[in-house]
Amino acid sequence: GEERIFNFAAGPATLPANVLKKAESELYNWRGSGMSVMEMSHRGKEFLSIIQKAESDLRSLLNIPEDYSVLFLQGGATTQFAAIPLNLCSPDDSVDFVVTGSWGDKAYKESQKYCKPKLIWSGKSDKYTSIPSFDTLEQSSGAKYLHICANETIHGVEFKDYPNPKNGILVADMSSNFCSKPVDVSKFGIIYAGAQKNVGPSGVTIVIIRKDLIGNAQGITPVMLDYKIHAENNSLYNTPPCYGIYMCGLVFEDLVAQGGLEEVEKKNKKKGELLYNAIEESNGFYRNPVEKSVRSLMNVPFTMEKSELEAEFIKEAVKEKMVQLKGHRSVGGMRASIYNAMPYEGVEKLVAFMKEFQAKHA
Ligand code: PMP
Repeated sequence: GEERIFNFAAGPATLPANVLKKAESELYNWRGSGMSVMEMSHRGKEFLSIIQKAESDLRSLLNIPEDYSVLFLQGGATTQFAAIPLNLCSPDDSVDFVVTGSWGDKAYKESQKYCKPKLIWSGKSDKYTSIPSFDTLEQSSGAKYLHICANETIHGVEFKDYPNPKNGILVADMSSNFCSKPVDVSKFGIIYAGAQKNVGPSGVTIVIIRKDLIGNAQGITPVMLDYKIHAENNSLYNTPPCYGIYMCGLVFEDLVAQGGLEEVEKKNKKKGELLYNAIEESNGFYRNPVEKSVRSLMNVPFTMEKSELEAEFIKEAVKEKMVQLKGHRSVGGMRASIYNAMPYEGVEKLVAFMKEFQAKHA
């Protein structure tokens, strides 16, 4: 049928309905070209116009300064866990990691193959529910960069402001809160993000990198991971994920039309408030363990006081056309991912369902 459901998946995740409709209308014959975007040469003028428009809309959304390159790559954010140390470090260089969840931990572990990372703070012992105060952080002398994961998708912990590294540059994995709010790009050496949460389908990874950091890759760096190659070739060194880039472009266009990221952030705050208030006002029936000031506006994990009810909650929600509410297998419970494209009505419906479920089981 025609009916859509509310999809609370962490990624791939729900996309804006109007973007999907637009893609549908252009699928068979893109703007009179006589072919779909999937069939175009990545070097033809049609696709060039698509990738250039995607980049320029992203630049305007995030106010990306001129001295930063924007790269559309493949391999997911996971590939960047290796590409970043390979491009920025010699094998003996030290780098620092503040780990506030399991994605940051994965990035830390992968970097051990290519440089000398130091874990200068980890939230593991308190089950990743907080972010450290920045003035207590002791960076390694000579550290090339400080890596953070701006939003931990599994644990629901989000940086609300950013540390200023004393040594080196700040590198941030923004996979799960990319384009959800304005960001001062100039504070970062590298921002990277997989597209499949907020800005498109899986298969596209966006890297925003200060240009002076490009060009020092280790000799063993595979050509596909070398930022210099991709920057010099405007992300067209080899065949890029053309259709995915096109979809990201449609999402960027939609975000611009919504009034930009300040407007988008307002909507996300309203949704987050609604859901966190419902949890807070449940008298402990629902719980979120994350420190209030750093709760994610994108991924909201919660558990139940009566954990034996969780499976039923998830099952009943599906009957109400709300899917993918099961928490990550490593933490259990529930998780509602409420990215940009989740409408306010979706969160309203979830909150109404939570209240009903509680009334039935209290
Ligand atoms: N970082 C974060 C914060 C993520 O949420 C994810 C995916 N869930 C990844 C990295 C890994 O991304 P990918 O699957 O695109 O490699």
